[in-house]
Amino acid sequence: MTQAPSTACIALGANIGEPLRQIEAGFNALAALPGTRLTARSSLYRSAPVGYTDQPDFINAVALIDTTLEPHALLEALLEIERVNGRVREFPNAPRTLDLDIVLYGDMVIHDPGLTIPHARMLERAFVMLPLAEIAPDMQVPGQGRVSELAARVDADSIAQLQRMPA
Ligand code: ADP
Ligand code: MG
Repeated sequence: MTQAPSTACIALGANIGEPLRQIEAGFNALAALPGTRLTARSSLYRSAPVGYTDQPDFINAVALIDTTLEPHALLEALLEIERVNGRVREFPNAPRTLDLDIVLYGDMVIHDPGLTIPHARMLERAFVMLPLAEIAPDMQVPGQGRVSELAARVDADSIAQLQRMPA
């Protein structure tokens, strides 16, 4: 029996090494996951670091995938992609070569010790909400409302959408 895929939103971020290359590698690795199709990718954004601010700006983006991987299996797969791309966890909000977070997974709500969905800080993060609103404005955040309306409330002062490279 084949299980119906769920739509998940993945936030990508990078600010050391070669961020543009690592985000690209992240998109490609998502597309290559078993039982998974990459259905949309946002444009790239540049954002100022939050929390620990003495570090380079981030490149951010959001991907939509259709996947038959269950949420915990998906998280494990994302952490493996981070490892392959040189991620080292030093301290919270430390600079990173590649960060992959599950923002939404269908209409699921999960509160486990290692996994919170919807992502706990998504609503306050312009670098999640703006790219998400670009590719999925009508998507619902469980218990919160529509992405486009929620995105209109974030503080967008320290984020900029990057121009797409000419083809
Ligand atoms: P952050 O992304 O918050 O800066 P990390 O990438 O170091 O921090 O993630 C730390 C842990 O957060 C992961 O090992 C994972 O278990 C947990 N986590 C909880 N919810 C999620 C989620 N929705 N997506 C990704 N990681 C999550
Ligand atoms: Mg993370």
